[in-house]
Amino acid sequence: MWVEGGVSHLEADYSCSVSAVQIPDAAPASLRRKARAMYVELAGCYPEAHCELDFTGPFQLLVATVLSAQTTDRRVNRVTPELFGRWPDAPALAGAPIIEVEQVIRPLGFYHTKAASIVGLSAGLVERFNGEVPTTLNDLVTLPGVGRKTANVVLGNAFGVPGLTPDTHFIRVTRRMGWASGSTPERIEAQVGELFDPSDWVMLSHVVIWHGRRRCHARRPACGVCPVAGMCPSFGEGPTDPEVAAGLVREPRG
Ligand code: SF4
Repeated sequence: MWVEGGVSHLEADYSCSVSAVQIPDAAPASLRRKARAMYVELAGCYPEAHCELDFTGPFQLLVATVLSAQTTDRRVNRVTPELFGRWPDAPALAGAPIIEVEQVIRPLGFYHTKAASIVGLSAGLVERFNGEVPTTLNDLVTLPGVGRKTANVVLGNAFGVPGLTPDTHFIRVTRRMGWASGSTPERIEAQVGELFDPSDWVMLSHVVIWHGRRRCHARRPACGVCPVAGMCPSFGEGPTDPEVAAGLVREPRG
C-alpha cells in the first residue's frame, strides 16, 4: 500500500525485487536513442496496446482505475457493469450505501478500503468539482484513493493529457531494460519521461505494461521471444531458448 499526502490508498504494489541497470541522472543522448529504438520494436509487437479497463467516460475510468489496485483489469471488468449499472455517476455513487458497494466489489479484495475510496472520491467530485472529474493532476490527487499513477491514467486516457503510469509492470520492465534505476514510482516516471517526448507517454505506458503482462513477467520473462532481446541489458533473466520462451507468453486481459 502506498501512502501519499497522509492518505493511505491502494495504488499498485511497487515493491520490486528486479535489479535495475544503473543509469545517470541526466540521460545521455545514446540512452535516449536506444530507448526509442526499443520502444519502436515494442510498439511493433503490441500495436493494439490500450487501457484494458472497460469504461465509458472519465468518471468510470477513475473509479475502475482505483479498483484495479492489487488486482487484474479482468476482475475489475467483471464487477463494473453492475457497479455502474446501479450507480452510474458521481452523485449516485456518493449517495450509495457503502455496505452495498462493498458487496458488489468484494471479489476484488481490499473491498472495505476500495469502497470507501470510490464513494469518498464521488462525494469529493460532487462537493468540489460539480460532479465532474477534474482535468489536472493537482486536483485529481486530492481525491480519496487517487495517486499520481491513477491520475495519469485518467488524464491520458480520458482527456488526452500526456502522462506516464508507473504501475508494477512499468516499473519492473523499464528497470530491466535500463531505462530507469529509481526505486520509487515518481523517480521512475521522471527518468523515463526524460527519454521520450510527452506526446509518446500515454501509448508508451500501454506498450510497456502490455509487454510486462505478456512477455517480461516478474518471474521467468520470455527473453527468447522478446522483441528487444538484442538491446536489453537484462536479456537472460528468463529462458533464452525460443521454444521454451514461447511457452511463457501470456495473452491476459489484465
Ligand atoms: S529481454 Fe527479457 S528481461 Fe529484457 S525486456 Fe525482454 S523479456 Fe524482459
